[in-house]
Amino acid sequence: MIPNTKPILEVDQVKKYFPVKSGFLKRTVANVQAVENVSVDVMEGETLGIVGESGCGKSTFGRTILGLESLTDGSIKFRGVEIGGLSERQLKKYKKEMQMIFQDPYASLNPRQRIGDALEEAFIIHTNLSKTERKQRVKELLVEVGLKEEHAERYPHEFSGGQRQRIGIARAVSLNPSLIVCDEAVSALDVSVQAQIIQLLKELQQSHQLTYLFISHDLGVVKHISDRVLVMYLGATAELAPAEQLFSNPLHPYTQALLSAIPRPVVGRKKERIHLKGELPNAANYPSGCPFHTRCPLAHTRCREEKPVWRQVENGHFVACHEV
Ligand code: SF4
Repeated sequence: MIPNTKPILEVDQVKKYFPVKSGFLKRTVANVQAVENVSVDVMEGETLGIVGESGCGKSTFGRTILGLESLTDGSIKFRGVEIGGLSERQLKKYKKEMQMIFQDPYASLNPRQRIGDALEEAFIIHTNLSKTERKQRVKELLVEVGLKEEHAERYPHEFSGGQRQRIGIARAVSLNPSLIVCDEAVSALDVSVQAQIIQLLKELQQSHQLTYLFISHDLGVVKHISDRVLVMYLGATAELAPAEQLFSNPLHPYTQALLSAIPRPVVGRKKERIHLKGELPNAANYPSGCPFHTRCPLAHTRCREEKPVWRQVENGHFVACHEV
């Protein structure tokens, strides 16, 4: 269920291209079309799952939303204010509001810095709290994410993968943001630890009124946590629907192929796996027409020539395919 119908984020026709340079003068000879005309509204308090194969542009999309990648074209509005294309300095006041949880929190931690000191940094930079107040907030944060106050004195290598991700989450929620981009946040964890971290994310969503963009290649995890799911293929949007609807009635051939690859433990519900031919095409040599036509089992002449329109086919269910 989508808890609120007010968009916190309005993404319109967003493009993110990376130039490919060549020659002595380093001229741009092509562009990697990492994000191609993505439009989606994200509602306050919802979890929007974003899925697709590795290299489909979902992480670049998340980073572009947060201003970690520059915007090539399009519009990104946060609470109605245009933030797409703002400079680092102009974006600073929104940084507290929008945070990211990474797949590997260890990479962003200084191995020689105690966790308490690492967590305190955000309060030093962004608040006027006294040292005593900061230390107290760090202790509260650690407890809130399921760790102990005394963990503040430990170093990153003294924690397990799940505990490190709890530290990453503590960092992300420390300044009370409204929007968090979770980029493969549980992908590196064991299944049992994944479930605990997802439960923690859900609890924090309730207590902090958070909105999540939950990026993952793991459809099982996405199904579990998301209110709606956006399927991306080669930087473009293929399908968007409420999670239940997408999993019970996928319309785009790419979504159908992705879902057919999920193991089904239910006895008597055998489903043929759809094997896609070939690899994901090179985004520097973007296909004409429908980006999926080089692998789609239903592709025909029109698909190679004409880009399908992104349209709503039933309430809240969007798809880009000539055949739907
Ligand atoms: S538009 Fe054509 S190629 Fe693209 S998904 Fe639909 S049937 Fe397949």
